[in-house]
Amino acid sequence: MTPDHAARTAPPLTRTRIRPGSRETALLAAARTVLDNLEAPLTAPGRPSRTDPNGWSYGYSPEIDRTSLAWAIAYQLLADHQPDTPALSHVYGADAVLREQGIRGLADLQSNLANGAPIDYAYTRCAYCDATGEDPVSPDYDASCPLCRGAIWYPERHSDQQIPRLVDLLTATRPAKPSLLDRLLRRAATVRPGQGGTP
Ligand SMILES: [Zn+2]
Repeated sequence: MTPDHAARTAPPLTRTRIRPGSRETALLAAARTVLDNLEAPLTAPGRPSRTDPNGWSYGYSPEIDRTSLAWAIAYQLLADHQPDTPALSHVYGADAVLREQGIRGLADLQSNLANGAPIDYAYTRCAYCDATGEDPVSPDYDASCPLCRGAIWYPERHSDQQIPRLVDLLTATRPAKPSLLDRLLRRAATVRPGQGGTP
């Protein structure tokens, strides 16, 4: 057993809101099983530091924690999207999702999986909090989700509101009715001999 494997411990559930039997627990357990089966490390290198004034990069940003909920969700989104792809590819994919932007990378991933459509959490269920609007790993019960910022996911209600709004917009942009003068001028043009008539 490698030191890395010996150091494997259960996720720190007591410091978060994650409860046994919850969706989050299942995601974390599934991700851990994948990593164990692959004997993959529980962390991945961060991105190279860009703080050197001479342009040389040295050092790395904090390591990517493959035991985090965000990583488990990134992995699951990728695996659900391409179930036939080897698990190790999704492991590296999940690393890449979190490497540059952390949890915000999940928003890009959801957008990419939707063919680049912008993500509006009113219509798209937030992958991180599962549309509860609350930070799933914060022990603070008032903390809103860092990804959707507590957006209310309610696509049916939003569409009910959106359709009348679109109708209003269409009505507002419809060309104004021609004035009486316009109509008279147009009629005069069609009856003028040699103009506007059929040959
Ligand atoms: Zn959220």
